Amino acid sequence: KAKALGKNQYCVYNEKMGKQEVRKMEIEKDLQRAIDEKQFYVVYQPKWNVTRNQLCGFEALVRWDHPHLGLISPVEFIPVAEEKGLIVQLTNLVLEEACYQCKQWQQRGIIQPVSVNMSVVLFRNGNLFETIQRVLKATGLEPHLLELEITESMVLEDINNINQQLNMIRSIGVRVSLDDFGTGYSSIGLLDQIPIDALKLDRLFTNDLDTPSKRAIINAIILMADSLKIDVIAEGVENEDHTESLKELGCQVMQGFYYGKPMKDRDIDNWISNSLVVE
Ligand code: C2E
Ligand code: MG
Ligand code: MG
Ligand code: MG
Repeated sequence: KAKALGKNQYCVYNEKMGKQEVRKMEIEKDLQRAIDEKQFYVVYQPKWNVTRNQLCGFEALVRWDHPHLGLISPVEFIPVAEEKGLIVQLTNLVLEEACYQCKQWQQRGIIQPVSVNMSVVLFRNGNLFETIQRVLKATGLEPHLLELEITESMVLEDINNINQQLNMIRSIGVRVSLDDFGTGYSSIGLLDQIPIDALKLDRLFTNDLDTPSKRAIINAIILMADSLKIDVIAEGVENEDHTESLKELGCQVMQGFYYGKPMKDRDIDNWISNSLVVE
């Protein structure tokens, strides 16, 4: 049984294929149309400064509401978008939406930066800087309210090229943070080699603070970041224990389900009025 994928492309299903493979093929086949038909939307997860006890930003996270498969995680479709050459289009959608939204919040009195996740592919095309300038101009968003999240594995692929682009992007005031920090291998040596404003400790760390040695590692990372004037954000903060341990280790900004799940814009005002009552 074969299904047409559009021009000259066929996707062949056979009995031996597992459910996962069939699903992946379906995702590949539907992605372009999903972009054209705007089946994507963006949710925003708060970042919370525990020292000041206040909101300090939002991370934009993309969602795909597939007509048959339902909600699909970005973990599943981002790699496919990268393979299929669709990640630039998809990122542009998210970037435009996030900047537009951030400006809207500002007009409602919510003055908070928004961060957008970047794929390495965006740095290969050579016009990320122009894209960012264009989107900032079109939405009227101040550059310091935009932050890009990149990962260390991305940077390692082509450090000179990426640093050059990051320097240009930061020169206009856009911030850069290093996402999923600690999941790669050469993490610590990279800290003074990539121009970044913040690092986000991967949630594996947050979930593994039980032993003194793990705590010592986090503490050392935070101290080092402090002396390099790099902010530290903990990811995946799910409960009070996590918060307390991370606070003790000197971490000032938390992101995770304990503070707020990723939500649609229409739920944000409500979340803000409720979060003010907490503590
Ligand atoms: P990430 O950038 O590290 O985003 C954090 C992920 O952790 C999000 O998953 C978020 O929903 C989840 N999370 C937040 N708090 C908690 C918590 O307390 N516990 C647990 N277990 N998870 C938590 P999500 O939205 O499924 O996104 C997964 C990944 O997909 C992101 O990881 C990012 O790498 C990628 N991604 C999402 N949106 C985009 C996008 O617009 N562009 C690109 N290139 N990648 C994206
Ligand atoms: Mg991120
Ligand atoms: Mg992350
Ligand atoms: Mg992560």
